[in-house]
Amino acid sequence: MKLSIVIPAYNEETTITKVVEEITRVMSTQKTNYELIVVDDGSKDNTSKVVTTLIEKSGRKNKIKIIKHIYNKGYGASLKTGAKNAKGKYVMYIDADGQHDPRYIPKLLKHIDRYDMVIGARKGIYSTSLFRAPGKKILSMVANYLAEKKIPDLNSGFRIIKKTRIYEFMSILPNAFSFTTTITLACIKSCYDLKYVQIKMRYRKGGKSVLNPFKDGPKFIMLLLRITMLFSPLKVFLPASFFLFLLGIIHMGIGVVIFFKVPSLSVILILSSIMVFFFGLLADQIATMRMEQRV
Ligand code: UDP
Ligand code: MG
Repeated sequence: MKLSIVIPAYNEETTITKVVEEITRVMSTQKTNYELIVVDDGSKDNTSKVVTTLIEKSGRKNKIKIIKHIYNKGYGASLKTGAKNAKGKYVMYIDADGQHDPRYIPKLLKHIDRYDMVIGARKGIYSTSLFRAPGKKILSMVANYLAEKKIPDLNSGFRIIKKTRIYEFMSILPNAFSFTTTITLACIKSCYDLKYVQIKMRYRKGGKSVLNPFKDGPKFIMLLLRITMLFSPLKVFLPASFFLFLLGIIHMGIGVVIFFKVPSLSVILILSSIMVFFFGLLADQIATMRMEQRV
């Protein structure tokens, strides 16, 4: 089996049928041997019932299957479940809400033999809501800084990944929406080959997006910190240490020139800068060890 198509679905009864049908239609024009896995992430609506009917009607029980989470575990968890049950050498992720157009599948498939991951990249910062756009912009700026290169689309859910790569990073991949951001950065930091293929996104056809910009704001800051700590801790600790040191030196300069003594606050600032620096080294060692373990 070459390809496993994994569709994470949470309360998507209105769109899932059409998405599956569109995919099977596109795949029937391709030579690629594939299977289709719908992961029902503990939906409260009739998603699994709809899919089960669809499977029975299609008469292709060995080609389409449904896996159910007994409770809602999150987008990343659905993708992991999909990968764990995949028979294919490659795993393709595509959303159940109809936002990803299956017409682009052949465009992505074309590159899988030569790359570790092929990403359907959206042009510009795409967002369903006005509030989410600035957050995504900041996240992508931080990611570019961490990766030391420009990443066209950090968290598009439409992508094909070599299954071995997903397994390799399984322990650091989150259960939430940051799955895609994390695996993109992990692959870049490990020097794997990534290909971006330009796609256009469609609007959600039904159901609704579960992301909430206000509730997810603090989570988003934690995500940035976690990803930074995983891959390049020094990129955070060094500037922080330098900033504290500079502040301490300036403060001390002013104290010595004006009051003829070394103020205790400047000593505290400089000492903290040294401590932050050594903490950074320690964190860097841990990050390096984690990378080495995987090779
Ligand atoms: N999803 C999931 N578990 C969740 C939330 C979402 O499996 O807890 C699925 C959802 O059904 C959809 C995909 O993940 O197919 C992307 O979710 P959504 O469309 O809400 O995200 P957005 O496109 O708004 O970023
Ligand atoms: Mg969506």
